[in-house]
Amino acid sequence: MRNRSTALIAVCACAFILSQGTSWAGPPIDDGFQPSARIESRHFSIFLEAGVDEGLLLQKLDIGPDHKILAGQALQAASFFPAGLPDLLDALFIWSCGVLDMNLFNYRGNIKIAKEPGRLKEVYFKLYGVAGRDEKAFYIYELNTLYISEQDFTKEILGHEIAHAIISNFFVVQPPQKVAEVLAGYIEFQLRKLSAAAPAVAAGAAAR
Ligand SMILES: [Zn+2]
Repeated sequence: MRNRSTALIAVCACAFILSQGTSWAGPPIDDGFQPSARIESRHFSIFLEAGVDEGLLLQKLDIGPDHKILAGQALQAASFFPAGLPDLLDALFIWSCGVLDMNLFNYRGNIKIAKEPGRLKEVYFKLYGVAGRDEKAFYIYELNTLYISEQDFTKEILGHEIAHAIISNFFVVQPPQKVAEVLAGYIEFQLRKLSAAAPAVAAGAAAR
């Protein structure tokens, strides 16, 4: 059995945390996160802390009709909107898989959404016993869990971390951290390009 404090070794600029081991199969680990709601999608169990507003998350995610390319094979364009949070997260996941050419049809993971960014630091400290950096989000492979706050719940930040989840679970042997970071950065870049190409979506999404 690996010691978690030493097994989780790498922290990237976005706080992607990667071990060279396998996902955690032992007893549940207390990360200090206390969800008040749980939403299931095909690919994710989504945990919301008390006070997290699902409507605000959709607004922050800012995926509108002009982003229907994100739907990929998940949804037909005609039925893509209005789509709820589970559908949009699945769509973002499948789109990211397609861009990376790493299909994980049976993947399931966790997304934990904190009310305040500072809660992520508390989770990090709970898990590692040391203070984390000012991270907007991080994915922990061994827990197969992505942590993010309501404030930073954008498709770019989320997409970056979802990419880490995909990369970590696609390869049997973990790729070098720098390689994973480049690939996750590529997903983030593609999402920023989409946003730049559809700048009016933000206003439309906010109105929904
Ligand atoms: Zn990263």
